[in-house]
Amino acid sequence: MPIAFSCPACSAPLSIDDQHAGATVNCPQCNSPMIVPQVAPQIIYVSQPRERNREHTPHPGIAVVLSFFWPGLGHLYCGHFFSGFFWMLFHGAMVFIGMLALLAPPRWGADNEMAQHRAEAAIVALLFFGFAGLSWLTAMFGAYFAARTTRYR
Ligand SMILES: [Zn+2]
Repeated sequence: MPIAFSCPACSAPLSIDDQHAGATVNCPQCNSPMIVPQVAPQIIYVSQPRERNREHTPHPGIAVVLSFFWPGLGHLYCGHFFSGFFWMLFHGAMVFIGMLALLAPPRWGADNEMAQHRAEAAIVALLFFGFAGLSWLTAMFGAYFAARTTRYR
């Protein structure tokens, strides 16, 4: 590509191929010697901080969807490992205890007490399923806000 410049002696507009950059030539107008300038480095602004930020920021929607399938997954996705594992274990424990109470009611006592034990077990199961549901909702909200406030480095 040609270099456009002007003669330092007579200001004549000149053009020469860039392979001659740095070479000493004589001006075709005034015949005075000069050094062909280097190609001016073109400053191109290529950084796009907004795009870069978006790329390195967890998406709140993905965090919520992951937490929908299992509480804590959204936190893990955002890099919040402590909260993530806490919600996974807490939710898992609540579901497990609820299932245990529901599926394995106490089998002791006289026959006439069995119905009451089953009713109590069902209430306990309901209570723990309630905790499981609350932790599920809380973890989804938590994952959303975790994604909103997390910036990867
Ligand atoms: Zn000249």
